[in-house]
This record gives sequence, C-alpha cells and structure tokens, in this order.
Amino acid sequence: MSTHTVQYNGLELEFELIRKDVKFVNLRVNKHGEVVVSASKKVPFSVIEEFVESKTPWIITHLAEIEKLRQNLPPSGFYDGKTLYFLGRPYCLVTSRGPSEIQIQGDKIYMFSKSTTQNALRDEYLLWLKNQAKIKFEEIMNQIYPLVAPYGILRPTIQIRNMKTLWGSCTTGGNTIRLNLQLMKASEDCIEQVVLHELVHFRYKNHGQGFYTLLSLLMPDWKVRKSKLESKFKDGV
Ligand SMILES: [Zn+2]
Repeated sequence: MSTHTVQYNGLELEFELIRKDVKFVNLRVNKHGEVVVSASKKVPFSVIEEFVESKTPWIITHLAEIEKLRQNLPPSGFYDGKTLYFLGRPYCLVTSRGPSEIQIQGDKIYMFSKSTTQNALRDEYLLWLKNQAKIKFEEIMNQIYPLVAPYGILRPTIQIRNMKTLWGSCTTGGNTIRLNLQLMKASEDCIEQVVLHELVHFRYKNHGQGFYTLLSLLMPDWKVRKSKLESKFKDGV
C-alpha cells in the first residue's frame, strides 16, 4: 500500500493505492473518510492518477456526507436509497423517471419525476410533503382543539412553513399558528404536542407557571413527546 495525492481545482486529495488482482481500477471512500484505490499491477500509475482525478467531484460529495454523519447530522443529499421520515416512520426513497407522482408502498417512497438534479427532486418532494401536511395538520387540529375550546380559545387557522429552528409559533392578533413542515417527519403524538403548545399560548403568552399547568393538565406526557421530537425523525431534507 502506498499514499499518493492528486490536485483538483487547487485542492489536494490523498489516496491509498493497493496493487492487487483486480480487473482494472476500483475506488472507494471508506467510513473513516479515506480514499482507497485498488488497481491491477498492469495499470500504469498515470492512468490511475487520471482515474482518481476524474472521480474527484464524486469523492468530495462523499467526504462531505461522511463528515455530516460524523457530526451526527443526516446527509442532505436527495438520492436513491436515502432514508426519509414520514409521520414517524423511516422509508427508503426510490426514484424513477416519469410524470410527477409520489406513492408510499410498504417501507418505500416511490417518486416519479422528470427532474434530474437532487435539488429539483428535493423541491418537488417538499411540495408534495406540504400538500400532505395541509391535510394531516387539520386532522390533528380537529383532535386537539376540543381540549382547549372550554378555555375560550378560538380555533386558529394553520400556516405551514419549512423552518430551520422553530417547530411552531403563533400570532395571537391574527389568530394563526404557524407549523414547521418538518413536523411531517415526526409521529403524530409529537405533532399533537406542538399544536397543543401553540394553542395554550392563546391563553398564556409566555412560558410561565400558568402556561405549563394548563399544558400538563391537558397532556400529562407532553415532555416525553417533546424530547422524542427533538431526538428523532431528522432526515436532512
Ligand atoms: Zn411556546
């Protein structure tokens, strides 16, 4: 085994070369983020160098994904085989070319699309998810709102936004609650907790004693649901 480097757009990329009995040249990135190349003894080094250079964009993408895994963040790519969460369950993404359609069958999400780039596919998926959210969030509101109706709280309208940090927020003046599209990745009990939290804010603006007393009365296990929401269901999309 020997260590070599190639240059790519001013970037130095290191790789391990193993000469062994393979057909031509194989390249892989292992889980430690090391680039390992195996090549037949017959292949000249200049050909191997060229091969590694041609693979550099792919290598860089993979190294970035591995780095994210190391930081315990889900990979942000949108590709076949990716794990997507939908209402608390993991699904495997399967993409095909065809007129736009998304179907869930078994443990797979089948996505038909004319888009070819990961960004366009992701946008299309998020649009579909938002349409699903419009139905699901109303359903959950139907179940949760009766809990707070006796406290003189009016049923608010729901807005859906794809947000980075907040799960939900409310505007008491406009009688609106805003829910994060990302909640569609979580199980329903977690979404219920967020909806109830925002509804209770129409009675208590701040997180004071009164707020938590009412929340705990209406949903005694809200803390369990909240910590479940924080620790699971992230898929990077
Ligand atoms: Zn709050």
